[in-house]
Amino acid sequence: MTSKHYDTIIIGAGHNGLVAAAYLAKQGKKVLVLERRSIVGGTVVTESFGESFTVDSVQTGGMLRPDIIKDLKLSFPTRASSTGQKGTVLSLSTEFPFISLQPDGNHLTLDAESIKRISEKDAERWPEFVRFMDKAAYILDTAYATIMPRLPKNLNIREGYGLLELGLELRLAGRKDMLNFIRALPMTAQELVEEYFESEIVKAAIASVAIHDSTLGPMSAGTGYTLIHNWMNRGGLSHPNVGKAGEITNALADAVKAFGGEIRTDAEVKNIKVEGQVAKGVLLANGEEISANIVLSSADPKHTLLKLVGAQDLPPEFVWHTQSIKMRGSVAKVHLQTNGNHGIPEGTLVIAPSIKYLERAYDAAKYGEISEKPYLEVTTSENTVSIHFQFAPYALKNESWQVAGSKVEKLAIDTLSEYFPNLQSSIINRKSITPLDLETTYGLTEGDLNHGQLMLDQFLFMRPIPGWSNHKTPIDNLYLCGSGVHGGVSGASGRNVVKVLK
Ligand SMILES: Cc1cc2nc3c(=O)[nH]c(=O)nc-3n(C[C@H](O)[C@H](O)[C@H](O)COP(=O)(O)OP(=O)(O)OC[C@H]3O[C@@H](n4cnc5c(N)ncnc54)[C@H](O)[C@@H]3O)c2cc1C
Repeated sequence: MTSKHYDTIIIGAGHNGLVAAAYLAKQGKKVLVLERRSIVGGTVVTESFGESFTVDSVQTGGMLRPDIIKDLKLSFPTRASSTGQKGTVLSLSTEFPFISLQPDGNHLTLDAESIKRISEKDAERWPEFVRFMDKAAYILDTAYATIMPRLPKNLNIREGYGLLELGLELRLAGRKDMLNFIRALPMTAQELVEEYFESEIVKAAIASVAIHDSTLGPMSAGTGYTLIHNWMNRGGLSHPNVGKAGEITNALADAVKAFGGEIRTDAEVKNIKVEGQVAKGVLLANGEEISANIVLSSADPKHTLLKLVGAQDLPPEFVWHTQSIKMRGSVAKVHLQTNGNHGIPEGTLVIAPSIKYLERAYDAAKYGEISEKPYLEVTTSENTVSIHFQFAPYALKNESWQVAGSKVEKLAIDTLSEYFPNLQSSIINRKSITPLDLETTYGLTEGDLNHGQLMLDQFLFMRPIPGWSNHKTPIDNLYLCGSGVHGGVSGASGRNVVKVLK
């Protein structure tokens, strides 16, 4: 069964696929987005699991790059981001509090005024730390907006031009901050926070953001980079727009349609049709074939290249590199519908009492075990409570996820109840999402939220694969446009791929 022909087919209606589709449709291209789920959004989605039980099911809140919001004429609530605005210090805003939970109920909000309660010195250092992090996030954001040249290849002038522009732009960031940024990337989060603060509570709370959604501990090299990445992604420590992740992708889907693009849900791509090393279209799971001049995939690189294309159509060395991409998901989500009497304040709350506590939580993942004393990040939206649980490794040593899901759910609720005793009795309904669910339901290989771990050997010109960092693949007319190229909820990957197509 063959249907009509398109200029571009985009696999996946996550935020990146939708950003790419909207830009291309705006250019007048005939565009079709194919999404295997019955709803759009990918991991940036607000879903209902029962009456009055609606949550950001996987990624909490989020923000797009301001230039994308402007270009696509989108409108949804967003926090003014420090990134993309030349390093202005907006993260000092207290609009979205970031709170470290304490067993005695004396919870600490991370702002200068509250930090003064436990350390005058840390309170004095706080504005400088925030200023540096905003600047570092701006530098990283600028790098993500650059299409990376394929460095191990012969650098051609056209590919190198973006890097030249990036260099010039970054010179303006200031020599001292630039050097400190480069120095911070390979550092451990522990080392980075110790350069600023003395209080264990403050240090651990900040370090928790560094390990959020990575399978790393705060003593792992490179968590300086992940701290900056997540700061950039959130525009500070706390999540903006909690409960509104779906508004981002719904607005993007509306934009695609308004510009004349088509979106089909319940449309799983089974194969990318390749003839003589050139992508010709796709074959859907229902047997339908759709042809196109260009195929973009926002599914993760492993899924796209090894499953949808297949090793037989790719060079052996490229296949080896693709197989070697480190995925390693270790996040589970536990959503609770309550009667509202849970007693949990609004904001982004963390259980991260010390750096050692976080490191020990990560230790479990190294051995394929679920952390008995997990790092939790908690957000509330109306009567629902969402718990982000680490570490719950995709590859469990001694149990299967079919049975381990209930263990994570219990651990999450019991741990949080130690801080909020009314939580247990307020629960009406619950929904847990394990790393296996992230793979089977949300299409993330090994439950990896970033389509490949954010690590220094897998970033910028080494992402997704050294030598193939500019969205291209060995298959002509097949491009990658998801978080496997640039992570986070910024839309950078979807935006950049359109520039490559020009
Ligand atoms: C719990 C959680 C916490 C996170 N926290 C952070 C954070 O703090 N910082 C950060 O930077 N990032 C974080 N992320 C990661 C970030 O949300 C993702 O990297 C990003 O949203 C991925 O967007 P995407 O559009 O590239 O891909 P996705 O949202 O994964 O979209 C890809 C789409 O492709 C579809 N698809 C896959 N295969 C097929 C197929 N064969 N046919 C048709 N459709 C297909 C999928 O169903 C999906 O809709 C988090 C993610 C999660 C889940």
